[in-house]
Amino acid sequence: MSLQLFINLAYIVSSVMFIFGLKMLSSPATARRGNMLSALGMAIAVIVTLLDQNIITYQWIIVGIVIGTVVGVAAARMVAMTAMPEMVALLNGSGGLASLLLGWAEYQRDFGIPTFTAGVIALTVLIGGVTFTGSVIAWAKLSGKMDGKPILFQGQQIVNALLLLAILVCGILFTISPPTSYLILMILIVLSLILGVMSVIPIGGADMPVVISLLNSYSGLAACAAGFVIENNLLIVAGALVGASGIILTNIMCKAMNRSLSNVLFSGFGSATSGGTAVEGEAKPISAEDSYLVLEAANSVVFVPGYGLAVAQAQHAVRELGELLESNGAEVSYAIHPVAGRMPGHMNVLLAEANVPYDQLVEMDDINPIMETVDICIVVGANDVVNPAAREDEASPLYGMPIINVDKARTVIVLKRSMRAGFAGVENPLFFKDNTRMLFGDAKASVQALVREFKEG
Ligand code: NDP
Repeated sequence: MSLQLFINLAYIVSSVMFIFGLKMLSSPATARRGNMLSALGMAIAVIVTLLDQNIITYQWIIVGIVIGTVVGVAAARMVAMTAMPEMVALLNGSGGLASLLLGWAEYQRDFGIPTFTAGVIALTVLIGGVTFTGSVIAWAKLSGKMDGKPILFQGQQIVNALLLLAILVCGILFTISPPTSYLILMILIVLSLILGVMSVIPIGGADMPVVISLLNSYSGLAACAAGFVIENNLLIVAGALVGASGIILTNIMCKAMNRSLSNVLFSGFGSATSGGTAVEGEAKPISAEDSYLVLEAANSVVFVPGYGLAVAQAQHAVRELGELLESNGAEVSYAIHPVAGRMPGHMNVLLAEANVPYDQLVEMDDINPIMETVDICIVVGANDVVNPAAREDEASPLYGMPIINVDKARTVIVLKRSMRAGFAGVENPLFFKDNTRMLFGDAKASVQALVREFKEG
């Protein structure tokens, strides 16, 4: 068997492992194995690629692997769960930058490339550049290094349209005459980097998760284009898988927020710090002791976790409370909103870490129809995803976003530290409803207090 045939066969094996790995990610029960399978597929791909006879130097590759491994392992170990979306943004950006550099290097290696290769180099550089700077801005916004609100200015659309036009012209000029177009490629790179910044600054607030997912898709498309540049089948397949799965996730998240993608990208949603009709009334605080008395009599309890669960790291305490409630005879479940927390699947990851049984996790669309029959909803550090203004108040920036209808349960106990707003910066009328009680304090401390009451009671 020739070496090339062997490499291509190994690439097919890797591709199949990626596809099955991705499929397994769709259920919490198989996700870990899916991740391992895909990682193994990638390991095979990397090893086999190293056999390629076009490799000029192994020394630099080894240096790259060592630096990449050290940075990757350290970052993965050190990053807090709550900072994971920022990390994902940086990883997307690195993917984009790698593709951009690959396109540039390939051109540098041979100015006399055919038209097709020049075209895909232009695409690689464009998508890679947009992904890189777009992801850096997303990272800065999510990590608070820059204001998370949309940045809007007069004539923004016109500037963006001119930018796109200039990119199109450069792309065409470069494609038709690569040998004489070094300067044009440089201009294309700079314009692409500017376009990345311009595309993400007008987006902010609760729309950032959608942007991260979209940038993830772009990083895949950039890799796919890079695969065409160096004629590597596996890079084309892997890039296409990332591109497609990223766009599917983007679509799911847009649906979860009841928004269209164009509305997310171009509306400057979230530029207001607050909005909606002012809420009147008084919130009713409750102590841990009194909460225990209510919980003790409950037949069904639904936990609704949100970003505060991650901040407080309350997942283990919540699982313990869930078990105590079950042994007290209550039926316990955990309702998961698709954009609760700060990244897709954030709540699933935390609850899985605490060994909450998968069959107790219920999706929003399955819990809402039976909410009226639930005795108690315990909202653990969630705010926007349980805000009834999204359903009732047309003036609210959240209006139209599907929420978990906790206000329809018989009693709601909200665990948070203060009356402060959630991510979208809007007030929450849930806190003022007759059937809502506020258990103020750090979510972990509050849940632990409830656990103590159960153990002592
Ligand atoms: P929110 O950010 O709306 O609310 C979280 C609440 O948790 C806050 O009101 C805060 O109140 C409370 N909290 C914070 N720390 C603690 C603590 N230690 N103990 C108790 N409570 C705490 O979270 P949700 O999950 O409801 O909604 C997610 C929001 O984030 C949505 O708007 C979504 O669009 C957006 N988003 C989602 C991403 C995703 O992919 N899932 C990514 C980026 C943004 P207090 O300060 O009073 O304690």
